[in-house]
Amino acid sequence: MDSLRFYVQTFGCQMNDHDSGVLARLLEEAGHLEVARPDEADLIVVNTCAIREKAEQKLFSQLGRYRLLKDRRPDLTIAVGGCVAQDAGRRLFRRAPYVDLVFGTHALQDVPDLVARVRRTGRRIAATPEEQDPERLEAFYAHHRARAVTAYVTVMQGCDNYCAYCIVPYVRGRELSRPADEVVAEVERLVAQGVAEVSLLGQNVNSYGLKPRGETDFPALVRRLARIPGLLRIRFTTSHPKDLSDDLIRCFGEVPALMPHIHLPLQSGSDRVLEAMRRRYTVGRYLSLVERLRQARPEIAITSDMIVGFPGETEEDFRATLEVMERVRFDGLFSFKFSPRPGTLAARLPEPVPEPVKEERLARLQALQQAHTLERNQALVGVVRPVLVEGPSKAGGGQVSGRTPENKIVNFPGDPAWVGREVDVRITAAAVNSLRGEVPAAPSVGPDHRPGGVACTFR
Ligand code: SF4
Repeated sequence: MDSLRFYVQTFGCQMNDHDSGVLARLLEEAGHLEVARPDEADLIVVNTCAIREKAEQKLFSQLGRYRLLKDRRPDLTIAVGGCVAQDAGRRLFRRAPYVDLVFGTHALQDVPDLVARVRRTGRRIAATPEEQDPERLEAFYAHHRARAVTAYVTVMQGCDNYCAYCIVPYVRGRELSRPADEVVAEVERLVAQGVAEVSLLGQNVNSYGLKPRGETDFPALVRRLARIPGLLRIRFTTSHPKDLSDDLIRCFGEVPALMPHIHLPLQSGSDRVLEAMRRRYTVGRYLSLVERLRQARPEIAITSDMIVGFPGETEEDFRATLEVMERVRFDGLFSFKFSPRPGTLAARLPEPVPEPVKEERLARLQALQQAHTLERNQALVGVVRPVLVEGPSKAGGGQVSGRTPENKIVNFPGDPAWVGREVDVRITAAAVNSLRGEVPAAPSVGPDHRPGGVACTFR
């Protein structure tokens, strides 16, 4: 097959972002070239996410735009992958007959071959296997697209929790952890290529090592990785409150490379709603985790997810959520209106909350969170924090951009040669989404661990 120009569009979470990176790498290795715009491409891949609201609707309106390109250039190949594709399978062809390829979450590694078959035969293909072949999974992870400074490393896939509203266990399959030696070897390779920070990914990362049961649990994995010379920072996401162990909390106090930030989804501040959601923890347990995390690492930033308007949620339940937010004062929050996912338990629950009520609650919740985020960010003004420089700032003007240990973005005037290093920055101003800073006249810049003269690319 001739070399194709391809464009990948990603919806959704970090897991999808990571999968798109792997997919792009696989396509490049098959001789194809990534382009920045869909109208320049011979192959458009849409990597979908089923978690967010109206996922299918958003997909079809985007596909409608790509259809116009295909009307002009019938040789354009359109592929749809990810969670929506896994869920919908061939059904997708009925609504979008101009789509050529549908591939599920377990067929990512086959995409270059599937594209070749579609283009050779002119036939549409739907490949949505239910299970991941463990041997192929290992080969799949060997493909990795690292950013110059930071990289995602998937340590486990799937989820066995079956929260009432969530489609992930149905589309990502059962929980499956990678062997620790393999993860460590991959991180060592990344560090040798110049990566200074890794984010360990899993749908439910705290239960790493349970399935299959290995010798290494998640805290032990973090401690092993922290011993890799040159690895400055370790992060992980996402944690389930029911699985956050005392040992992992201790890691925040004992392992300096483990960054002081945790994303710990609460979902609701009402025990009644949490039970209906099948989350298997109480608000009391969550608050005690927050307290212990702050004892272990006082500066820790805590972010969370919240769903408003779950079936049966009363005004009293919702107020309980706002009260918990007042007590915890999250650094950031992803908040969503409940929308039923077909096939999940919550889709069959009675007492739906009317749409206008959901909207009104979401607006109240988001207004409160904005105030808290700003308050938490403003508390850093005047403080000096080590910032890992990731690249030029989008703001331009000779500024560079990086993150504090608490995962807050800081833009400040700086030298592009600092990319990949930690620089001490005094925070001078705070907004909701980012901070501004300055370095002293004689900046404190950490060592450059990257291999000499490696050019950096940023996504
Ligand atoms: S823990 Fe619950 S919300 Fe998270 S992926 Fe698993 S089922 Fe979904």
